[in-house]
Amino acid sequence: MVNIIISVKELKKTYGTFEAVKGISFDVYEGEIFGLLGPNGAGKSTTLEIIETLRSKTGGTVLVDGFNLDTAPNSIKKIIGVQLQTSGYYPGLNLTELIQLFSGLYNQPVNAKELLQLVNLEDKAKSKFKELSGGQKQRFSIATTLINQPRIIFLDEPTTGLDPQARRNLWDLVRDIRAKGTTVIITTHYMDEAEQLCDRIAIMDEGKIIALASPDKMIDDLVATGFERPKQVKAANLEDVFIHLTGKDIREA
Ligand code: ADP
Ligand code: MG
Repeated sequence: MVNIIISVKELKKTYGTFEAVKGISFDVYEGEIFGLLGPNGAGKSTTLEIIETLRSKTGGTVLVDGFNLDTAPNSIKKIIGVQLQTSGYYPGLNLTELIQLFSGLYNQPVNAKELLQLVNLEDKAKSKFKELSGGQKQRFSIATTLINQPRIIFLDEPTTGLDPQARRNLWDLVRDIRAKGTTVIITTHYMDEAEQLCDRIAIMDEGKIIALASPDKMIDDLVATGFERPKQVKAANLEDVFIHLTGKDIREA
């Protein structure tokens, strides 16, 4: 039996006369990694930010762990983890101090050292955010989503712009977080990432969900239509070559 932790029905969002989200419906199951995929402008961030209580909706209903977005947004805020805008990271503070600051804001005691260990940044405890590499910045940003011990975290394109090692490293982190029972909603436009990481995905295009299933099921359904790849696919791709040559370790020390 799956437990539905997020239920979205007929969600609509218009900006002026432009319909960015056109009445979408989907459920997210407790404990899964749910991917929202789609090209730029599809409406992914708008959808996430509405569920996160950060943006108003034009229509539809959203329930998060049974709390209605219209009547109980503060109850929703308490059980979700959201990546903060990096501009909120006071430049004078180091990572430990930033975590302590957020811990105070959330009124939630947190062990900064343990949290930094979880995201593999224990060596950077005394570093400033701006001194981190791209992958380290993303890992720190994910750490901040965990401070209030949320049931669900939202990650909006956490791997965009990262090199292959940093992306794989982040996948491991997301899997670790899910293994602890946290539900993860992630957006991406990397299909390999969605295939590797997500239990189920919704593909969005022009404000609509055009497919929703597990990656496996979507591929099987396509194959069942008689689809064939135009060329014989090699047993490896260029990314495999790159990872093989440069190694999988985190090296942005
Ligand atoms: P995605 O995250 O999938 O790239 P967004 O949700 O950011 O898509 O945007 C969906 C559409 O809504 C885009 O066409 C975007 O230009 C438009 N949009 C997003 N935010 C605003 C806004 N504040 N005002 C007007 N249009 C917006
Ligand atoms: Mg976006």
